[in-house]
Amino acid sequence: MVARSASRSSDRHEARVADGSKVQTRDPQPYDRFELLPIAGSWRHGQADHRLVDTNPFTGDVLLEIKQADRRDLDAAFAAAAKAQVEWAVSAPGVRAQVFRRAAGVMEARRGEIVDWLIKESGSTRLKANLEWEVTHTVMLWASSVPHAVESRYIPSDIPGKENQVRRKPVGVVGAISPWNWPLHLSNRTIAPALAVGNAVVVKPSSDTPVTGGLLLAKILEEAGLPAGLLSVIVGAGSDIGDAFVSHPVPRVISFTGSTPVGRRIAELAAKAPIIKRIDLELGGNAPFVVLADADLDQAVEAATFGKFLHQGQICIAINRLIVEEPVYHSFVERFTERVARLKTGDPRDGDTMIGPIINNSQLQKLMARVHRARDDGCKQVLGAEPDGLVLPPHVFVNVTNQMELAAEEIFGPLAPILRVGSAEEALAVANETSFGLSGAVFTRDLHRGVHFAERMQVGMAHVNDQSVIDLPTCPFGGEKNSGIGRFNGSWAIEAFTTDQWLTAQHAPRGYPWSASAVQGPWS
Ligand code: NAD
Repeated sequence: MVARSASRSSDRHEARVADGSKVQTRDPQPYDRFELLPIAGSWRHGQADHRLVDTNPFTGDVLLEIKQADRRDLDAAFAAAAKAQVEWAVSAPGVRAQVFRRAAGVMEARRGEIVDWLIKESGSTRLKANLEWEVTHTVMLWASSVPHAVESRYIPSDIPGKENQVRRKPVGVVGAISPWNWPLHLSNRTIAPALAVGNAVVVKPSSDTPVTGGLLLAKILEEAGLPAGLLSVIVGAGSDIGDAFVSHPVPRVISFTGSTPVGRRIAELAAKAPIIKRIDLELGGNAPFVVLADADLDQAVEAATFGKFLHQGQICIAINRLIVEEPVYHSFVERFTERVARLKTGDPRDGDTMIGPIINNSQLQKLMARVHRARDDGCKQVLGAEPDGLVLPPHVFVNVTNQMELAAEEIFGPLAPILRVGSAEEALAVANETSFGLSGAVFTRDLHRGVHFAERMQVGMAHVNDQSVIDLPTCPFGGEKNSGIGRFNGSWAIEAFTTDQWLTAQHAPRGYPWSASAVQGPWS
């Protein structure tokens, strides 16, 4: 059982286990040094030969260098996780709840530092960094309610004297793999509920965001009193260590957020692993944003601009295609282009910048190649300019059809293709004509019509008279088709990170049917 003694007489806090050995020492030092990795209960260098250079995508400054983890670190992290999880799983729910309440408090006290890291490491604008802090903080608070929300059940028995229990138990160890775009939130939406229900977690953040995708959360949770060994952060390239991470025999669930091709690979590996395991896959999207002829165009333009360009369009649920009905097409294109042209681009530290840098040069080059191919395909560019460093100004294209790459593929950048359709039914067909199915939105003044339209959209998340970038910690987040398997948030997260055990107790000696004539009931 974990018992903590936290002394605040000085700036020093300590957490102790029952035998008195110190498991963590937490000084409220500034969050400015992240060269070491929390692996198997202590902060140390990874054992790989190569270093990861973490850079600021806007300034190009080197933020830090990290000696990466290798297979030996991975084995140590998973072994420590399996060991630490045993006690944690049987700790009182109130003990676990308290860690997340405190973590929310740590986040409040360190809001400035956290926002600063999101800006400098992940290229977030100040606006997006604050939104990400908010959603992560909300999930942390919600996670403090999770330990008391895990319910077991009794089921009536046909066998006399038998008690049927269904015990909801933590799965054991969860492996989390996260992307770079909302690194703090997308790692934490696995880490917080998975720990809260009594698991241990090993997380592998993206190489672009080792701090915001893992190391910061480890510091926050350590400061909040999470016992050592329950959370390890493995910093290493997905291509080097990814297969070993997913195939490892210890984790019972792999919770993956990232691209569809890597998600497919993870599904294959999980099936072929020495011990087969469950997967949750939150993958790419191609969100349609439909504007019907009776839409409130002012609202639709505001929503479209926000849902397309927040975080430079690097969001899985960002609007990917704007599908506009003929009667309002020209008016929408004109107003939308005028609105987008007013977005401030440049330094993400400025409070009113909407478009900051693309995460890295390789992503920028992919986007530029898309721009050139869009022009070759016959799309007409009505807005756009050359990149300045990694800042790509917003582009708007018209004359786009669903068959062109710009509409068929996930863009993940500040490029907005507008498609014209002749009717609401055609809009629905075009919206659904994609292999993805994450999120979507429709604008109409007729709410009843909007709901009827939205329920026929083949997406996991459909919104009427709003844009597609919405994530609430109590509502199910996830997709259909190539956008993934499973749901995050609320009761869906509890289900994702627990398993059911049917446990029976025979209260009185039972008789067994030794001949066919003795069979009197289904299970007698
Ligand atoms: P990515 O798939 O390239 O990488 C995601 C993570 O997987 C990273 O940590 C990476 O290191 C790791 N990885 C790469 N190869 C691996 C392998 N072979 N084995 C194990 N791990 C491996 O994605 P990205 O470029 O970081 O993020 C962008 C993508 O993520 C987009 O497609 C976007 O739509 C998707 N995304 C989805 C959601 C969602 O909730 N559905 C949210 C955010 C981003």
